[in-house]
Amino acid sequence: MYLKGVGPQRADLLRRELGVQSVGDLLRHYPTGYLDRSQIYRIADLRGAELPMMQIRGRFISMSLQGEGAKQRLVSVFSDGTGTMEVVWFRQAKAISKQINPEITYVLFGKPTEFNRHWQMVHPEMDTEAAAETRKELRGIYPLTEALHKHNLTSRQLHSLMLAALDGLSGVRETLPDEVIASQHLMPLAEALRAIHKPANMIEAERARYRFKFEELFFLELNILRYSRHRSRQLLGHTFNCVGVFFNRFYRECMPFELTSAQKRVIKEIRADMNTGRQMNRLLQGDVGSGKTLVALLTMLIALDNGCQACLMAPTEILATQHYESLSKMAGAIGVNIRLLTGSTPKRERDEIHTQLLDGSLHILIGTHAVIEDAVQFRKLGYVVIDEQHRFGVAQRARLWQKAAIAPHVLVMTATPIPRTLAMTVYGDLDVSIIDELPPGRKPVQTLLRFDSQRQKVYDGIHRQLLQGRQAYIVYPLIEENENLEARSLQEGYEFISHLFKDFKVAMVHGRMKPAEKDRQMEKFASGEAHILVATTVIEVGVNVPNASVMVIENAERFGLSQLHQLRGRVGRGADQSFCILMSKPNIGVDTRKRLEIMTSTTDGFIVAEEDMKLRGPGDIEGTMQSGLPIDLKVASLVSDTPIMEIARQEAVKLLDADPQLHNHPAVVATISKLFDRSMDWARIS
Ligand code: ADP
Ligand code: MG
Repeated sequence: MYLKGVGPQRADLLRRELGVQSVGDLLRHYPTGYLDRSQIYRIADLRGAELPMMQIRGRFISMSLQGEGAKQRLVSVFSDGTGTMEVVWFRQAKAISKQINPEITYVLFGKPTEFNRHWQMVHPEMDTEAAAETRKELRGIYPLTEALHKHNLTSRQLHSLMLAALDGLSGVRETLPDEVIASQHLMPLAEALRAIHKPANMIEAERARYRFKFEELFFLELNILRYSRHRSRQLLGHTFNCVGVFFNRFYRECMPFELTSAQKRVIKEIRADMNTGRQMNRLLQGDVGSGKTLVALLTMLIALDNGCQACLMAPTEILATQHYESLSKMAGAIGVNIRLLTGSTPKRERDEIHTQLLDGSLHILIGTHAVIEDAVQFRKLGYVVIDEQHRFGVAQRARLWQKAAIAPHVLVMTATPIPRTLAMTVYGDLDVSIIDELPPGRKPVQTLLRFDSQRQKVYDGIHRQLLQGRQAYIVYPLIEENENLEARSLQEGYEFISHLFKDFKVAMVHGRMKPAEKDRQMEKFASGEAHILVATTVIEVGVNVPNASVMVIENAERFGLSQLHQLRGRVGRGADQSFCILMSKPNIGVDTRKRLEIMTSTTDGFIVAEEDMKLRGPGDIEGTMQSGLPIDLKVASLVSDTPIMEIARQEAVKLLDADPQLHNHPAVVATISKLFDRSMDWARIS
């Protein structure tokens, strides 16, 4: 409020819009880039379609006023000796034409655009050489909100506020330990604050930005490490030291097939981990179809053998239901009581589940978010399996922990591989197990990209498979913006396919069907009564029909890579060669084509995920990852700054090794408590 240029109203605006309460907070509102008034560009060197605002220096070699009255404009040619630029003013044309002196050299600051092979600049800022000399600077471009715009607080004004704030700045307290600054050659805080808002050049600006990225990631890592050390020292886990009736009976009598050696290995790792007396926190990575569910079941049986209950959480109702069905089919025979709890579980059943959980007669609870509701209380929850966990935020997991006196062991299962440091940063310190082997006898699915002109051939191919007794999926995209359109495209598809394959039976499922009807249709396909299943992406995680050998994905260009990979995982489950045909509209962009070609070139989920991350850029993945973090990152990126993250982590480890309680680092402690929300007991989140 007392800063020059602020006052009570603006102070209020800044607080509401940017959470800025002090000069310190203000200076932490970093620019996202710079307007470069530090250097002069040569017209001859300009290249590219999308150039930033920049400075050029030269003289006006011709000028003409065109049009009349309000429509009058000034069209001029500006030369810097290397090339020419057309410079145009639509406003105040006459006044400006009078002001310009062809004899003197000007510096123009504006955005060059290429127009008919000629460079053009509209309404540049214009200075004499001498004036430009005093303005030589990189001016920060600041992120603004709608409301800031509305109240005329521009990026330029924010920049002036920053300069005023920097002027009065004294005694900034460094947040990073001296030894870290020294060993990483980081810019000290006071200098970095100046350099990020008022850099002398881009190198300085980058060094300042690096420091702030490092700082964010350092505190993030430090926080996670502190609590994971606390956890491993103090947080006792259940000791599962016996393998008993449940496990042994299942293994002897109910195993549907021989475990792969990768499955055996990870089960061993998990068993060993459950027997240390400390809480297990483990990530299980394995491609689609690698058999993670069976690993989950076998290890849950160990929990039961040790007098505990287990819980399996899935991100969607369909996935939870599928787990429920396959697990109860497998383990029902040995007297394991498994129940399903989702948002649509009727009240009476829900009450019954609550009762059984409390009296201990319910062994395994499978469900969606519903299982973390407060009403759900376990008698003795010892083990939690989370499927595709990246959709569960850290805070949601914490609520589950609070349901038990001793924190349960945790297994997070995912088909999405993420770099180890990133996994540890987002999920806390965890151990990783990997299933790197598919069950035997699977032939890689052959994936083809086809366009409308080749449709008939595709149908011929399906026909041949059907004649051989195989089955086929035809998948239509979800059209989220318009439910009617979606139903229509699916309905039309269904009618078309039914007509085309007159001699075969066609079933149909979609997300808005009544569950009973959906089950009936699925069952028709699963039993082989129907030969073709026309569906939306509800089958992404739903069915297991090994006899199905073809999947056609319509409008494949609308799907994400990981989704395509999940879908494709529905075929290739039997011993026969299977096919996945990606149908696309012909006029797709280069990136889309690249994406689809990744699918045709590999069946390895790890590669698909990696390429996906590269192509989609950090944005998408970042969003989901960010939601798992206790703080918002302002400058660092979880995806593109992993190298800095590694270093920050190492430094955090060094610091904690040297000073575990941080007694000698009061500034570090102060920063931690300022940054992290203490209302939540992060110690209980592993
Ligand atoms: P995901 O890892 O994608 O969750 P699932 O657990 O759904 O994979 O398993 C995929 C399919 O492989 C299922 O039909 C399952 O019954 C089968 N499967 C799992 N383990 C084996 C195994 N060791 N041998 C043969 N088939 C297996
Ligand atoms: Mg699975």
